[in-house]
Amino acid sequence: MSKTYKITLLPGDGIGPEVVAESVKLLDVIAEKSDFSFEYTEALAGGAAIDARNDPMPQETIDACKASDAVLLGAVGGPKWDDLTGAMRPESGLLKIRKELAVFANLRPVAVPPSLAESSPLRPAAVIGVDLLTVRELTGGIYFGQPVGNDGNEAFNTMRYSVEEIERVARVAFEWARKRRNKVTSVDKANVLEVSRLWRDTVKALHKKEFSDVELDHMYIDNATMQMVINPRQFDVILTGNIFGDILSDTSATLGGSLGLLPSASLGKGTGLFEPVHGSAPDIAGQGKANPIAMILSTAMMLDDLGEGKAATAVRQGLEAALGHNLRTADLCHEGYTPASTSE
Ligand code: ATP
Ligand code: MG
Repeated sequence: MSKTYKITLLPGDGIGPEVVAESVKLLDVIAEKSDFSFEYTEALAGGAAIDARNDPMPQETIDACKASDAVLLGAVGGPKWDDLTGAMRPESGLLKIRKELAVFANLRPVAVPPSLAESSPLRPAAVIGVDLLTVRELTGGIYFGQPVGNDGNEAFNTMRYSVEEIERVARVAFEWARKRRNKVTSVDKANVLEVSRLWRDTVKALHKKEFSDVELDHMYIDNATMQMVINPRQFDVILTGNIFGDILSDTSATLGGSLGLLPSASLGKGTGLFEPVHGSAPDIAGQGKANPIAMILSTAMMLDDLGEGKAATAVRQGLEAALGHNLRTADLCHEGYTPASTSE
């Protein structure tokens, strides 16, 4: 019997519904040509859920996500909901679903094909051939560590990691390296921070025990940020904690020249969450201008995670072919190009 994957769609707000619609078209074509298929459940998230249910992440949405094989999310937020605070904000809904799904590893690949090197803020020669993957720890570290305090005169946050938390995300990075160019760069601040010393010791021990076939090096976050701009081609897989990963993956996001190119996957033990790095882009929403590539590449990451690597590869090759034919949305257009619409 052929396999049916249950996919929960969270189109959300702004350009979210426009780009999710393109992914669904793509999945329908893949299903036609494969021995597996997809069953979709659409659910409310973000501003759309606030309008309909007065809650940015309703329980029925959480239940649908947990019952599915993968979740595809467009984007949440927009000016309409800017005045809301705390748990009522659309973005709070996003944090809630990440936490509910316990997705501790956030994967952000950045690749710059030759056809797009001209949109980069760096010299084309510096970015052609960039192909890196940041694996960021997503549910621990200083963003979540207790205690936290602020008495108006003094404030503090706590950076905490356990061996178990470090090992599980490091394992994800090493396993991806084996499928790529077999190199991991672990980024920390072990010259200053105690947490980083544990991070480095744990990564080294795991490497020795289970992944000694993978090349491993270590870099301080300050140097890594500089290296990302000077020589991004040196990186294959970058492994890092929550706050350093936040900064470093945004730095890497500039290399390709448009936010509309960048996919992400957030993975744990169960259902994975796949979403573009960009937000709801209210300035271009509803105009058919959004670049669907970030969403389409997020869908390819979903296919990889479901074990359908062949389909994922076909999607990536299709995109490169389209770009090679100069088919591109306005964010990637320079002189001489006529912009294509989202659905084109
Ligand atoms: P949010 O608060 O939801 O993040 P934002 O106003 O910060 O919204 P982003 O979505 O982060 O907007 O986008 C930042 C800029 O990048 C905007 O000018 C937007 O038009 C552009 N952009 C983002 N995503 C895309 C895309 N898929 N295609 C084209 N342009 C995009
Ligand atoms: Mg934004």
